[in-house]
Amino acid sequence: MSTTPLPPAPNRPNTPRTYAIRTLGCQMNVHDAEHMAGVLEAAGYVPAPAPEGHAGQGAIHAQGIPVADVVVLNTCAVRENAATRLYGNLGQLRAIKAERPGMQIAVGGCLAQKDRDGIVAKAPWVDVVFGTHNLGSLPVLLERARHNQAAQVEIAEALTVFPSTLPTKRESVYSAWVSISVGCNNTCTFCIVPSLRGRERDRRPSDILAEVQAVVDQGAIEVTLLGQNVNSYGVEFGDRGAFAKLLRAAGTVDGLERLRFTSPHPAAFTDDVIEAMAGTPAVAPQLHMPLQSGSDAVLRAMRRSYRAERFLEVLDKVRAALPEAAISTDIIVGFPGETEADFADTMAVVRAARFASAFTFQYSIRPGTPAATMPDQVPAAVVTERFDRLVALQNAISEEENDKQIGRPVEVLVAEGEGRKDAATRRVSGRARDGRLVHLALPASGDGRAEPRPGDIVQVEVTDAAPHHLMADSVLAPGGLFEVRRTRAGDAWQRAQTGLPEPRRAAGLKLNLGPATTPRPDTDLADPA
Ligand code: SF4
Repeated sequence: MSTTPLPPAPNRPNTPRTYAIRTLGCQMNVHDAEHMAGVLEAAGYVPAPAPEGHAGQGAIHAQGIPVADVVVLNTCAVRENAATRLYGNLGQLRAIKAERPGMQIAVGGCLAQKDRDGIVAKAPWVDVVFGTHNLGSLPVLLERARHNQAAQVEIAEALTVFPSTLPTKRESVYSAWVSISVGCNNTCTFCIVPSLRGRERDRRPSDILAEVQAVVDQGAIEVTLLGQNVNSYGVEFGDRGAFAKLLRAAGTVDGLERLRFTSPHPAAFTDDVIEAMAGTPAVAPQLHMPLQSGSDAVLRAMRRSYRAERFLEVLDKVRAALPEAAISTDIIVGFPGETEADFADTMAVVRAARFASAFTFQYSIRPGTPAATMPDQVPAAVVTERFDRLVALQNAISEEENDKQIGRPVEVLVAEGEGRKDAATRRVSGRARDGRLVHLALPASGDGRAEPRPGDIVQVEVTDAAPHHLMADSVLAPGGLFEVRRTRAGDAWQRAQTGLPEPRRAAGLKLNLGPATTPRPDTDLADPA
């Protein structure tokens, strides 16, 4: 905690108030934070400077306790210890607020949706609590809290305005999230999402494609389509083929080089989606396919409707169509009732699947989920021991798979603030087309070759590998591969640094998905007309 009194938060009408958003959670939360930033800036707030040691993270970040006139904690109810982390953050903010009259604290996201006025009861110094369905109310609630000198708690039970219609402040100019649906119709027993985000609501295809076109016009060359269960897209308007059609249509957007999506569900991952991936050059050779468990008994208890064999069949089909695809996954270890034999099944599927990487989680109780009250909770020590074995296995596989990349050319989209920044060895980092993290050396300073900007593309050769990244130091070898392609995304990044205006946008693209993918008017949340 700071011992130096902080400057008071400005309360004068002509002084813009600053904001900072701390996001704890998944990609959906990160994208929600972009909407929160957008609505705050539309209401006249300005981003607070990034905290010391977190340069480049702007007003939306995951590290450090931000100091601003308005601090928004964007919470997660899925991750472990979410409540402990929230109240830990709020404790630190209480001390900062005591020294900074006029400062306001808002709590949003899944935990706010779940705990509601319980948050103000436990932390009465909180000014605003808002839910996942009413992000757009944030500025009004802040204003009302200031005017009434009383905490405002507003939680909407259902979505009335699709968040994508809200103003959006994107953190990256070269890579953008585009939401295709919110909510989920599944009932996985470990997951709080269905009860907090509600049933799946699908955006109209033309709205999604218009947003993809808009972000590409603004400089993005990479787009990730986002939903809790992307391949069920279309369920709301009765078109089972809608996601494949959407991929093909988004792939025609001129200038879009890398199209990704997250997360699909193995149960409904149909051949038409695989064909669309393989037949659409812009779709990146990457797939995140959550396994969760390799035991059929545990999958049944999780209420995941596929089985291990079906999961591996999907992977085989993807690899037959896209041999270069890097496939990643999520796995939960120690779900209630998991036996040693169940865990052995998971290890066997992991050996067979040869994931490029895996997000591995130790099961722990999430209040409000069906699994929380299941019998046969696995003792923590057992969970940890299994988890360590799984991580060791997956790390070995990841390293073997990454070793296969050594000697291959790789196309890297240079990122800002990702991975290691090593001033001494002059390295930058970015992602390969298949999503692998790559650290690459730059030419010696003064050798006259162009250096890439964030958003530019570099062709280099992989020279070394580790479980979680590739090294591509080919520029250091005489005649080694190092080709920079300056992109519109790099231009956009540069303009953003210098504050130059955007060039005029290209004319909008006419996209026709055919009548089958046009939702009924009553499912079209995005268009009030
Ligand atoms: S598919 Fe399952 S894990 Fe994923 S959001 Fe829906 S309920 Fe949760």
